[in-house]
Amino acid sequence: MSGASKGSAEAKPGRGIAKSVQSAGGVKSTQTAEVLILGGGIIGLSSAWEAAKRGFRVTVLEAEAFGGQASGAAAGMLAPFSENPESPDAFFRLCADSHSRYPDWVRELEELTGHSAELQRSGSLNVAFHEADFLSLRARLEWQSRHGAGFELLGAAELRRREPKLSDRALGALYCPGESHVFAPKLVGAAEEACRRAGVRLVAHAGRVTGMERVAGTGVVVRTAGAGSWLADRVVVCAGAWSGFVREWLPVDVPVHPIRGQICAYDGKGDPVRHMIFSSQAYWVGKKDGSLVCGASEDVAGFERSVTEQGIGRLKRWSDRALPFLGGIPPSRGWAGLRPATLDGWPLIGPVPEVSELVLACGHYRNGILLAPSTAALVGDLLEGKAGEKGYENAFGIERFCVAGTRRGLG
Ligand SMILES: Cc1cc2nc3c(=O)[nH]c(=O)nc-3n(C[C@H](O)[C@H](O)[C@H](O)COP(=O)(O)OP(=O)(O)OC[C@H]3O[C@@H](n4cnc5c(N)ncnc54)[C@H](O)[C@@H]3O)c2cc1C
Repeated sequence: MSGASKGSAEAKPGRGIAKSVQSAGGVKSTQTAEVLILGGGIIGLSSAWEAAKRGFRVTVLEAEAFGGQASGAAAGMLAPFSENPESPDAFFRLCADSHSRYPDWVRELEELTGHSAELQRSGSLNVAFHEADFLSLRARLEWQSRHGAGFELLGAAELRRREPKLSDRALGALYCPGESHVFAPKLVGAAEEACRRAGVRLVAHAGRVTGMERVAGTGVVVRTAGAGSWLADRVVVCAGAWSGFVREWLPVDVPVHPIRGQICAYDGKGDPVRHMIFSSQAYWVGKKDGSLVCGASEDVAGFERSVTEQGIGRLKRWSDRALPFLGGIPPSRGWAGLRPATLDGWPLIGPVPEVSELVLACGHYRNGILLAPSTAALVGDLLEGKAGEKGYENAFGIERFCVAGTRRGLG
């Protein structure tokens, strides 16, 4: 859309603030936004906060309640090394970049809002329970050490000294001192409050999107079931596992699908474990309130968000084996969230071809909490029309999934 800057006195030079209501096809009740973000999980909220800090007038439409679906359910691990066992590809670099931003990003968030995200640099242990587990740990040790992991390979005795509650079935572990975690629901709450303080307009219970239409020279009209119609210069789709809904109005498919994660927690007192612990079958993270979070299944269950006996039962069996002090104790609670997955497990961050007013920031699958600061920075750059500086940004565009000759149209 070429510069349609008319209207609001708050418009910044060179930015096209929407717009006369008339130009939106005579929709009388249309409200306007410079940047309209669809989805109020961690990706939508952090992108909104970033855009507001860069001077945009931002509105977030959330279909249900703020706090996100997957975002509120997450274990909150910030684990760029443990989550990338294979190679130093663009996704690893994005994860590492985001992790390096986290301490300052969280500090700013906490100072602005007074809310703690409970960032803890606990370090992580990738534990080998079988000799074969060492093969992948050694492969990682080799290349990740060159990328700042600061690893130590621990034998059984040293591992037990550092993490006394682990089962004596543990044969050793890869220790990564820099990996950390946050309390995800508190992080999302802080991000929501940061948006509010930065002047972002937050609209909850907007319902599903019922239509999207491009208005030549003006912007995009988004119609919702619960919050009327909106005309915006730019629309950013951050609807997590639901993001595929936009395919109906786009020239390309948006291949995002839900992968359910079932997860549980044991309430306790004191420090149940000192590090984040990963095994091939489950992970455990000790939170500041003394609870121990254990996750997570990866099930294909459509948009079903309930837990199953089988899903939580499996986590309980692994907990009993890895941490014998939990033997016989049932988890205090279980819950589930829908990870937004793409076909290759990498997020979609970038404009939609032929509809540059529309930006995708979705499909963060297992790592949306970790990737929030980097994603927000990339979205901010895209809104400002800046080319990314890292050299890997194009790796996350929708073009990688586009099949030639399957074009449809928006508006
Ligand atoms: C069990 C579990 C554990 C996890 N653990 C970790 C972890 O340790 N570390 C990590 O980094 N990541 C983890 N993840 C992944 C992480 O939670 C996700 O990648 C991340 O939360 C995705 O954020 P999001 O904002 O894209 O999606 P969501 O949080 O799902 O938010 C999307 C929002 O969009 C809204 N929405 C849907 N449709 C519309 C619409 N049409 N209009 C407006 N709004 C709409 C939804 O209501 C929702 O609030 C975990 C996920 C699960 C399920």
